[in-house]
Amino acid sequence: MKFGGTSVADADKIRAAAKRAVRTQKQGHQVVMVVSAMGKTTDHLEDLASQVMRNKPAPKREWDQLMVTGEQVTISLMAMAIEEMGSAAISFTAGQIGMVTDDRHTKARIKTIAAGKIHKELDSGKIVIIAGFQGVTEEGHMTTLGRGGSNVTLVAIAAAINAEVCENYTDVDGVYTADPRVVPNARKINKISYDEMLELASLGVNVLHNRAVEFAKKYNVPIHVRNSAHSKKGTMIVAATESMERIVVSGAALKEELARVSLTKVPDRPGMVARVFHTMARHDVMVDDIIQTVNDDKTTASLSFTVDLAEFNDAKKVCDKLAKTLKCNVSYDDSLSKVSVVGVGMRVHTGVAEKMFSALADAKINIENITTSEIKISCMIDRSDGKKALRLVHDAFELGGKKKKKTKKVAKKKAKKTAKKKK
Ligand code: ADP
Ligand code: ASP
Ligand code: MG
Repeated sequence: MKFGGTSVADADKIRAAAKRAVRTQKQGHQVVMVVSAMGKTTDHLEDLASQVMRNKPAPKREWDQLMVTGEQVTISLMAMAIEEMGSAAISFTAGQIGMVTDDRHTKARIKTIAAGKIHKELDSGKIVIIAGFQGVTEEGHMTTLGRGGSNVTLVAIAAAINAEVCENYTDVDGVYTADPRVVPNARKINKISYDEMLELASLGVNVLHNRAVEFAKKYNVPIHVRNSAHSKKGTMIVAATESMERIVVSGAALKEELARVSLTKVPDRPGMVARVFHTMARHDVMVDDIIQTVNDDKTTASLSFTVDLAEFNDAKKVCDKLAKTLKCNVSYDDSLSKVSVVGVGMRVHTGVAEKMFSALADAKINIENITTSEIKISCMIDRSDGKKALRLVHDAFELGGKKKKKTKKVAKKKAKKTAKKKK
C-alpha cells in the first residue's frame, strides 16, 4: 500500500492510513506500506533550497540529501501510529532496506532491492513501512527517483516481494479521463491498460509516475489506484484486453511545463543527430519529442526537441555550446504545453487526428508541433491555451459522457408546450 502526500498530510490522516493497514493485516494479509512526505513537505524543502541557493541551482547530491528527509518523518510517525493501535511495525529508509540505485541524483533508477529483509520482518508479524521516493547508491549516497517517485518505490517493492496486490492510495477516486481538477466532467476509468497508462503518465497525468507503470508492466503487477478517504473500488491498471480496443480514446492529458530547443541550419551529414543527442545524454538531459526535417537546400536540416521546463536550464547551457561547435543556429521557446489523447483503440480506428485538430482549430488554438504513436496523438500549443485545450479535446471525444442531444420525444413535448402558450 502506498500513501501519497495528501493521504498522510496530518496526524489524523496518518492514523487513518495506519488503521487501514492494521485492518488489512487482521484480514490475514502481510502488509508493506510505502509512504510519501507529509502534505506539501517536498515543495517546502525545494523552496528552502532555492532560498539558500539564490544564484545557482542547488548541487544535486545535496538536493537529494535534503529531499529524503520528508519521507523519513512519515515512516516513523506511521510506525508509531501502528504500534499505538496494538500492532507491530518497523520503518525503513532506502539505505536500511537495500534499495540501491544508480548515481543519477534527482532522477535515479532502482538497480536492486534486498527483499530478504522485508520478508523476514513480514514473517515475524510486523507491518513494514518504507520511505518512498528515495534510494541509496552503492557508495552510500542518498538519491531520489524524481518528483512523484514514491509510486515507483511502491511498484518496485511489490515486484521484488511478489506482492498479490499493489494499492496506490491518493486523493482522487482513481484515474480519470482527464485531470479532474481541470476538467470538471472528467470520469473515473474502471480499468486501463499498462500501455495507455504509461502514455498518460508520460504525457502529464501525474497520478502515477511513468516509471512506476513501466515497472508494473515489466513484472505484470496490477496497480489499484484508489482514494484513501473511502473504500470504494478505484481504477485497475492491468494488461490490455480485447474489449479495451473498443474504446477509441481512453483519456486526455496535459503536460503544462515544456520548453523547445530548435537547432537550425544543422549540416545534414550522417552522425550529426547522434552527436547532438549523445551530448544531451552525457549531460543527463532528458529529451522528450524529437522532430527533424531536411531543408529544401538538401545540405542542412532543422532539428527540434522538447524538454521539461525543469531541464530547460541544463539543456540551454549544453545547446548554446553545441550550436557554436556545429556552427548552426539555436533558438528556444519556454512557454509551451502539450495536449494529448490516448487510447489503444486508435490502433484499429481512424479519424482520431482529424477530430483532435478540428477541436483545436475551431477554438483558434494554433498547433505548433504534432507527434504521434500507435496509441496517442499529441499537439504542442502555447501554455496560455493549455487548460482550455484539454477541456476541448476531452469534450470532442465525449470522454465526460455523450453530449445530450434533444430526443424526438423531448422536441415534440417542447413544440406542444409552445403551441399551447401561443393559444
Ligand atoms: P499523491 O500525493 O497521492 O501522490 P498526486 O498529487 O501526486 O497524489 O496525484 C494525484 C493528483 O493527480 C490528483 O489530485 C489529480 O489532480 C492529478 N491528476 C492529473 N491527471 C489525473 C487523472 N487523469 N486522473 C486522476 N488524477 C489526475
Ligand atoms: N514526496 C515526493 C514528491 O512530492 C515523492 C512523492 O510524493 O511521490 O515528489
Ligand atoms: Mg504523487
